[in-house]
Amino acid sequence: MSATQQSMHGPSARLAPFGESIFTTMSRLATEHKAVNLGQGFPDFDGPDFVKEAAQRAIADGHGQYARAFGLPETNRAIAEAAQRTCGFQADPEREVTVTAGCTEAIAACLLGLLSPGDEVVLLDPSYDSYAACVAMAGGVARRVRLEGPDFRIRRADLEAAFSSRTKAILLNSPHNPTGRMFGDDEYAIVADLAERHDAIILSDEVYDAITYARPHQSITRIPGVRERAVILGSLGKTFSLTGWKIGWTIAPPSITAAIRCAHQFLTFCAATPLQRAAADALSTVCRDDAYLRQLHTEYTARRTMMLEVLSDAGFQCVEPEGSYFILVDAVEAGFPDDVTAARRLVVEAGVAAIPASSFYEPANADRRWLRFAFCKRESTMLEARRRLLANPPRRLAERPA
Ligand code: GLN
Repeated sequence: MSATQQSMHGPSARLAPFGESIFTTMSRLATEHKAVNLGQGFPDFDGPDFVKEAAQRAIADGHGQYARAFGLPETNRAIAEAAQRTCGFQADPEREVTVTAGCTEAIAACLLGLLSPGDEVVLLDPSYDSYAACVAMAGGVARRVRLEGPDFRIRRADLEAAFSSRTKAILLNSPHNPTGRMFGDDEYAIVADLAERHDAIILSDEVYDAITYARPHQSITRIPGVRERAVILGSLGKTFSLTGWKIGWTIAPPSITAAIRCAHQFLTFCAATPLQRAAADALSTVCRDDAYLRQLHTEYTARRTMMLEVLSDAGFQCVEPEGSYFILVDAVEAGFPDDVTAARRLVVEAGVAAIPASSFYEPANADRRWLRFAFCKRESTMLEARRRLLANPPRRLAERPA
């Protein structure tokens, strides 16, 4: 190729529709405009010392080589033990638990390991952006069902219409990002019944299981018959405020686990060894004594109250979250034409970054109304956001020409 010729290679046909993740875009804009970043959901405070010290010890002790592909034995054991609290059964650590590089890899490993080309996966929109992208990477077809705000309930007729003879799995998430919903037993029962009738796998992303307000989290595996066809996806990142450690896992019956491991071994082979050791320590500590989890709950309850106050004082109508660390507000009710315009104007003119939730929908069928604010943030960060939003009230921004 001559020096003047430009190489024009780009993303594959499978990935071209997805473009850059909204989290990358908004965090870049937040940096560019020196904004308070309430967009990408990561804590701006550190994880607990007892977990960090466990990782430091593991590194100092020389645990620097690959781990067993599906997880260090003590990590698999601790995951199985800790999950009992929410899933109601004792998983076999050796045959049913797989440690992955974060839950995002767990999602990819499930879809790549389980889907054959053309298999369909039912997604509940709004849904986390990697779900549809991973379905596409695995050669599957996403059948997206739109839940309507502000209550975002699962309705039987809508879900039923998305199932077919090609349905391989349904992927759901509770506590739910970005709505903050925790699906009730009646909604779980609809999912369970349709999955059973179509012999579909239930992929249940439960990474926000420790961050709840309405009631303690219960896994969908508590519904009779579900355990045999379910994969629980979990992670360390949210519970221990260590999203950058990228330690996640799956819990599934042995045959499904075998398929997940088949993909996982070729994706990352194994998750970081010293961090797996620390994860084992962290999880067995909270199994022995739930003081850490109680404190986490108290702190998030206070953060939720504060962020609801900040956003309503700024004039937004909020969807009160039952779980997770996100609050949706109605950008259209606040006077903006849509969520993307609201996000852009807020980051540039008010110096506060949020995520336009339309990126969590199938593009052709997106609700362009909701803006997502993350409150896994220090009090000082939220107070600074408050100051900025009161100085540039969203309603006034919306009226002013751009
Ligand atoms: N899960 C986090 C969120 O929803 C961050 C995800 C990411 O950066 N890919 O904000």
